[in-house]
Amino acid sequence: MSMPNMPNVPNMPNVPKRITQSLISRLRSAQRVVALTGAGVSAESGIPTFRDAQTGLWAKYDPTQLATPEAFARNPKLVWDWYEWRRALRRDTQPNAGHYALAALGKRVPRLVVITQNIDGLHQLAGSSVVIELHGNLQRNKCSRENIVIERATARPTDEGLLACPRCGAYLRPDVVWFGEALPRDALERAFAESTQCDVFFIIGTSGVVEPAASLPRYAKRAGAFLVEINPEETPLSAIADVVLRGKSGEVLPEIVKRVVGQMKVICGL
Ligand code: NAD
Repeated sequence: MSMPNMPNVPNMPNVPKRITQSLISRLRSAQRVVALTGAGVSAESGIPTFRDAQTGLWAKYDPTQLATPEAFARNPKLVWDWYEWRRALRRDTQPNAGHYALAALGKRVPRLVVITQNIDGLHQLAGSSVVIELHGNLQRNKCSRENIVIERATARPTDEGLLACPRCGAYLRPDVVWFGEALPRDALERAFAESTQCDVFFIIGTSGVVEPAASLPRYAKRAGAFLVEINPEETPLSAIADVVLRGKSGEVLPEIVKRVVGQMKVICGL
């Protein structure tokens, strides 16, 4: 099977060879690996990060002002339409080489857990089997009053162009975590447990400023994990990483996995 968006695998010219060698040998002997991912890992699929300029119709809105319970209470139609736009954008995208490389690495190491702040579901689509979603999933909806997941097909359309809960009539909202809201307890507990038991911890495409996700690498490090950051830019987590790989995840990850697995066809064969 061919892999979409698979770039030529570049060298990592800025990374001393002994560093990559020590990372590769750690990965070859690792029992447990965790990859914490953020919006940057989906950037090469064409999904903009919050820090990127938004496009077209939505360019004048600040995402941090739309992804809040207050914004939904003030103007539910505006927030709902923004998420419908993001859903349409997501439907038109595919996982990129970074997502596929992580899925391939998951088949090589005894246990690889992806902990993602992304809500796009692209890790699962690429074939990663253990994915902890810290911030929910864009495709699901829930009742804004009862907080329970509601299937879209069972919802009642409203005159305003929204959907209402078939049980209580409250508006449906996306089942994602908004700024100012608590993370799902189960996902968070699993994330902390995995982070404190792993041998290698990747920090990929996250600005490392949204808590509590940003604390996971610190817990992992304290528990003895080897920290590897992949990001074209410096972040507050760069200082605690054992290895920093300055580059795009869609380029750096396949290069690492190629060296760990030895054959690129393993990735392409997903
Ligand atoms: P962020 O927007 O704060 O930071 C993105 C990071 O990715 C930056 O540090 C940037 O330098 C890096 N980056 C950009 N391109 C990259 C690439 N090709 N490879 C590797 N790194 C790259 O994102 P965040 O840290 O995830 O936090 C913001 C919040 O935004 C999260 O809560 C997340 O739920 C939400 N969000 C999700 C999506 C999605 O699901 N795809 C998209 C936008 C925002």
